[in-house]
Amino acid sequence: MMMRPQVLVVGAGPVGLTMAAELARYGVSLRIIDKAPQPTEKSRAVVVWSRTLEMLDGMGCAEGFIDAGIAASTAHLIDETQQAIRVDFSLLDSLFPYALMLPQSETERLLRQHLETFGVRIERPVELASLQQNENGVEVTLRHGEDKQEKLQVDWVIGCDGARSTVRDLIGQSFGGRSFSTEWLMADLRLTGLATPPGEPALYFHGDGVLALFPIGPDNLFRLAANLGPAIEEGRGTDMSLAQIQALVERRGPTGLKATAAYWHGTFRVNERQVRNYRSGRVFLAGDAAHVHSPAGGQGMNTGMQDAANLAWKLAMVCRGDAEGGSLLESYHSERKDVGERTLRVAGRMTWLGLLRHPIAQFLRNHLALAIMERRPVQRFLARQLAGLTVRYRHSPLNGSGSKAGHRYPAWHSTVIERQPRFRLAGRIAPSALTQLAARFPTLLHPEAVASTEAGLWLVRPDGYVAVAATEGDIAAIDRYLTALLARPMEMLAAAEAI
Ligand SMILES: Cc1cc2nc3c(=O)[nH]c(=O)nc-3n(C[C@H](O)[C@H](O)[C@H](O)COP(=O)(O)OP(=O)(O)OC[C@H]3O[C@@H](n4cnc5c(N)ncnc54)[C@H](O)[C@@H]3O)c2cc1C
Repeated sequence: MMMRPQVLVVGAGPVGLTMAAELARYGVSLRIIDKAPQPTEKSRAVVVWSRTLEMLDGMGCAEGFIDAGIAASTAHLIDETQQAIRVDFSLLDSLFPYALMLPQSETERLLRQHLETFGVRIERPVELASLQQNENGVEVTLRHGEDKQEKLQVDWVIGCDGARSTVRDLIGQSFGGRSFSTEWLMADLRLTGLATPPGEPALYFHGDGVLALFPIGPDNLFRLAANLGPAIEEGRGTDMSLAQIQALVERRGPTGLKATAAYWHGTFRVNERQVRNYRSGRVFLAGDAAHVHSPAGGQGMNTGMQDAANLAWKLAMVCRGDAEGGSLLESYHSERKDVGERTLRVAGRMTWLGLLRHPIAQFLRNHLALAIMERRPVQRFLARQLAGLTVRYRHSPLNGSGSKAGHRYPAWHSTVIERQPRFRLAGRIAPSALTQLAARFPTLLHPEAVASTEAGLWLVRPDGYVAVAATEGDIAAIDRYLTALLARPMEMLAAAEAI
């Protein structure tokens, strides 16, 4: 008989896979289901950003992604007069200073491979049909294919079941926001006659609209994205032939650019929606189930995978009995809802900029905005924002003392993959003081400190954000923070034993 799992992950897209792999790494028992009989082969999201790569590095699997993808250190923004501005990702203060171009089908394949290393199997086709929260946890009904149903009791459910989330509906969360009428074309094409280096993304701003080209594979395999405005005569959406796509490419792209083969194409409309609460009792939402927005800036999948990484270590600590659940689990909603809101805003603005139709507005964009973007500090800011390096949790209930609490701590590469979600100290600390502290909090604090280039003593969370920023030698600040996090059941147990 199968042991009762602590967690049910619903959905094996990039977010569910990240969630399951992280929980499995930390020793949490789980099941992961997906209603689709097979994984998708569609390319969908095509960029893995630096912050996500740092996260994958911590998970111990970044290398496979880097080997499979194309590391683009530059992107090109080009106006109708073929004036180009280069956005330089090599300025990024990350272990991975580039945009990794990789089709989502590959990202999912690599995540599945990583998940398998923990002995976790994805159950397909298995669909979540209902859920009911009770005092013992959550009772769910799973539908196995056409004719078999299963009742299951778990402690926690994570809805990673995409934009049309069943979990979201079952917990009664509305998905407020708006839908835009503009239709967008996406196509995976082979191209010849490129004006920019083949491994680098390019965005063409034309009077009709935008043409974006992202390298996604060898031999000039590209993802095209373009808005289909009213001025487009070639045809619409899924009915478009290669010749019609070629006509669009010719009009908006550089002279001589030719689409020689189309592997997949389709259209979509942009939705901008977010749930009010990422948590309802013992049920959490992550990824597209919690937020959807324009693909401009390639943030959707990355934000979702980072939702998963944010929740996984917190839930693992609670499942393992290492920490008190209240503020730890509450912080997931407050931290990630803010990030989701910001992502919606930024992606919305970028889309708006691309869709400007009035000639004066287009002139201002092409001459003023692009000229501003040429400045190095502006470029760095923009690149850091896209790469996910500006994310910080300013108002998190998990922030301890110090003005830098909630900021991202510069990532370090570790060859040892942690199997326990523990905080790390960074900075100078006497070995004896660290040994004492680690002995007091064996489940919460890693016994080794990380060398730091920053002054002071830092307590860094398992997901790389600063919990406490103390002055050098202020061990008491760290002690106070960890004491507050310690599991209540463990304290009660100790007190009971002392009587
Ligand atoms: C055509 C297209 C192009 C895109 N391009 C980009 C891009 O360029 N950049 C970008 O960042 N984003 C892009 N996106 C968005 C990106 O694909 C999503 O943000 C990403 O897939 C979200 O991952 P997820 O795991 O949250 O959801 P999904 O990938 O949607 O996965 C959800 C999974 O849950 C399963 N599921 C659903 N309901 C149930 C249920 N009741 N029981 C069990 N399983 C269930 C589904 O079968 C699915 O496998 C694109 C999306 C599309 C459709």
